[in-house]
Amino acid sequence: MGEQRARDVRAGFTELYGSEPEGVWSAPGRVNLIGEHTDYNDGFVMPFALPHRTLAAVSRRADGVLRLHSADVEGPVAELALSDLAPGTDRAWTAYPAGVVWALREAGHPVTGADIHLASTVPAGAGLSSSAALEVVVALALNDLYELGLQRWQLARLCQRAENVYVGAPTGIMDQTASACCEEGHALFLDTRDLSQRQIPFDLAAEGLRLLVVDTRVQHAHSDGEYGKRRAGCEKGAALLGLDALRDVAYDGLDEALERLGNDQEVRRLVRHVVTEDERVERTVALLESGDPRAIGPVLTEGHVSLRDDFRISCPELDLVVQAALGAGALGARMTGGGFGGSAIVLAEATDTDAITKAVEEAFAAAGFAAPRVFEAVPAAGARRVE
Ligand code: ADP
Ligand code: MG
Repeated sequence: MGEQRARDVRAGFTELYGSEPEGVWSAPGRVNLIGEHTDYNDGFVMPFALPHRTLAAVSRRADGVLRLHSADVEGPVAELALSDLAPGTDRAWTAYPAGVVWALREAGHPVTGADIHLASTVPAGAGLSSSAALEVVVALALNDLYELGLQRWQLARLCQRAENVYVGAPTGIMDQTASACCEEGHALFLDTRDLSQRQIPFDLAAEGLRLLVVDTRVQHAHSDGEYGKRRAGCEKGAALLGLDALRDVAYDGLDEALERLGNDQEVRRLVRHVVTEDERVERTVALLESGDPRAIGPVLTEGHVSLRDDFRISCPELDLVVQAALGAGALGARMTGGGFGGSAIVLAEATDTDAITKAVEEAFAAAGFAAPRVFEAVPAAGARRVE
């Protein structure tokens, strides 16, 4: 299937631009197993890559022109002059790939233009990071073609800069690092402070387990503003404690830290989530490395409760997924991603997943919610050249 898609993207490129592309690259979407809203607190995250991928057929140009087209968006080829690229000027999807080119050039890399045609199976706006897949596939292609010699983590940093500064979306470093660095059959334990990483075995099928992603299809209109508020609250908490980041609150010292925050209940709740979430990531790593993947179920569910009650970024649909899945025998479940909609993940025995899927679908129908989309997530490979 992957090979057929690569051929399709190549053929699409040739039809649009009248020549063969120099190559085809692929980068995945991701789900975050655990470690939510920790990445802008210098904390730990643990994403893994999805089989859903964004493909890019790409050729270089020498004339300072960037041409962009996506099979997933109606419309003609966009043509941009590299000399015109400037943060905040593009409100369309083209800002993501153009932002990557801008970030590369701003960092002094000699990118002189490109023709790019994209096609993706990562659902956009479902919290599965189609934006990072799009950025990373473009960055990797240009890194290869222009022989820039950048490492994966450096590409991730540049993509984050593209999204933060050029697109104007305040995201952490997790999504781009996941898309660039994940490995098949593993989750990525990432320390967002120094970007050190470790591949943690997460071969669910071999254990008789499955991980379901339930896309609620809810997209919260205010999620950017709410994200900014949470982020500011976390920064306030760190400042009140005299720390660089909430990462520096030791789990053992949490009660004392909360005490010192006085009666700012909102900041106390945010701090408690971040500090306990970092500990949950470390616990998950320890359980997986000791060969006990079933035991992470309750840790995932604890994470959901913390996001719901302390960080307050869940929504009725996400809560219902977790409740219905647990009621039907799931080992654990939680919302994943930024919150206020998007997707939840459910860890279950392989033999229970049909019943769980049915239970979630029935619960949604009974509540009058739109039907969710449920699929299985198999930890897949990170970005790579495919042709
Ligand atoms: P998420 O990353 O959770 O999917 P975002 O809002 O961060 O959601 O990014 C989604 C946006 O990224 C889309 O609205 C679109 O602008 C852009 N995008 C993602 N994938 C593609 C694609 N294949 N073609 C064109 N634009 C895309
Ligand atoms: Mg995104």
